Amino acid sequence: MAVTIPTRQLFIDGDWKAPISGKRIPIINPSTEDTIGYIPAATAEDVNVAVEAARKAYYRNGGKDWSSAAGAHRAKYLRAIANKIKERKQELIKLEAIDCGRPLDEVAWDMDDVVSCFEYFADAAEKLDSEQRAPVSLPMEAFKCHVLKEPIGVAGLITPWNYPLLMAIWKVAPALAAGCTAVLKPSELASVTCLELGQVCKDVGLPPGVLNIIPGLGPEAGAPLAAHPLVDKISFTGSGATGSKIMTSAAKLIKPVTMELGGKSPIIVFEDVDLDKAAEWTIFGCFYANGQICSATSRLLVHESIASALVEKLVKWSENIKIGDPFEEGCRLGPIISAQQYEKVMKYISTAKEEGATILYGGERPPHLKKGFYVQPTIITDVTTSMQIWKEEVFGPVICVKPFKTEEEAIELANDTHYGLAAAVLSEDLDRCDRVAKAFEVGVVWVNCSQPCFCQAPWGGKKRSGFGRELGETGIDDYLSVKQVTRYASSEQWGWYKPPPKQ
Ligand code: NAD
Repeated sequence: MAVTIPTRQLFIDGDWKAPISGKRIPIINPSTEDTIGYIPAATAEDVNVAVEAARKAYYRNGGKDWSSAAGAHRAKYLRAIANKIKERKQELIKLEAIDCGRPLDEVAWDMDDVVSCFEYFADAAEKLDSEQRAPVSLPMEAFKCHVLKEPIGVAGLITPWNYPLLMAIWKVAPALAAGCTAVLKPSELASVTCLELGQVCKDVGLPPGVLNIIPGLGPEAGAPLAAHPLVDKISFTGSGATGSKIMTSAAKLIKPVTMELGGKSPIIVFEDVDLDKAAEWTIFGCFYANGQICSATSRLLVHESIASALVEKLVKWSENIKIGDPFEEGCRLGPIISAQQYEKVMKYISTAKEEGATILYGGERPPHLKKGFYVQPTIITDVTTSMQIWKEEVFGPVICVKPFKTEEEAIELANDTHYGLAAAVLSEDLDRCDRVAKAFEVGVVWVNCSQPCFCQAPWGGKKRSGFGRELGETGIDDYLSVKQVTRYASSEQWGWYKPPPKQ
């Protein structure tokens, strides 16, 4: 399908600006391996200009502009952005699919979520107005107190490539709703739709500098943004290794950070399930988004009494997955994002084999696809808990299967990981599901499903999957600072010190 990729520059201070270094990064179509365009690459000097623009927009007119306007004023812009994205939805879907290789039906769902997210946080911005000056009751009548919720300042937003626009909007929408101005550094592997967001902001007349969008390499653009002294907060989604570097640089300036990191999430399947439903949710939970999901439930724990029957079903359902060009009708599995990620996934599979696991299904490039970074959906059995494939995030369509005997054993195996992002449990017994949901050491639990995600519900992990919560009612809190204002309201002298002698 012919898709024209717009040529864009960096989006800074409400306009397109060429990167100072003149650097560009090729856009590789992961389905064909062809170079289909270029994105501009920001470096530290551009980061400075973008941060200054955000700072100026934050404080313009002595702080009377974006940051101190009513939430209702900001909500109008968020709704206008949502409407513009709705108008351009079909075009954005194609751009996203060609840039990141995910099937059209999936990215169509992403675009609907992007619109909902802007609308949801527009409501949150309005709600903020009614929550201002909330009174605090104090134990001493002489004092009156209220609370102000204020934007935290300039937010640096650093995002990954797996859901390129959606992951960015999870941060942009609440940050702008809160009254922050922002600099977004999307992933160098997929920045096309994030740059289009710049055009959307221009079209709806978002005040210059409120949102700046500067793609570029992590060490060249992300690192200077994270370390910038005029950036008041960093919200990061990506790998633990990068998250750790960002935390180190933020720590030097006592800068608050939100970390949305990786996972190796379990799905526990009990013996009382319907096998076809369980098979479909299991493969959806791990093969959706070409397996490149932070919350992929990639460790299947199945009760031993149904293990071979479920595995048989998984193979049957996997054989039926349409794999190939993301633009083809009915495609359900596209390519991995890049050559480097493809090699990484293949290496995980070959190491699993070397360590003694069985590649029961898949594990290869699909024979009918000669080009593109394609990996078959892969099911691995005979896995032990000491194997790399059981412990580490693969970020590809690879699931490991492990039978269990008892509920206690399943929970123990599920929690035996440094990660704590998500987990799923499938069973007809809802009391058992409740018990297991409580026992999981994670931030997100799915019962009788895996992966559905809604902007109304809080998202985030624990352990090495990060901290802070995006989305949901508290999603805006990460971008707010709470201030108490306490007034001495008595007409009496305070009277703590002895008054000085009268002159
Ligand atoms: P990554 O860590 O390689 O890159 C993420 C972003 O950080 C990119 O924009 C990159 O350019 C930037 N970056 C790289 N080095 C940097 C540095 N030194 N300083 C500042 N920024 C730097 O991750 P990725 O490969 O893009 O994404 C995959 C990872 O993201 C997986 O581990 C996945 O689990 C995680 N993820 C987590 C969530 C979540 O909600 N928890 C969601 C999506 C993805």
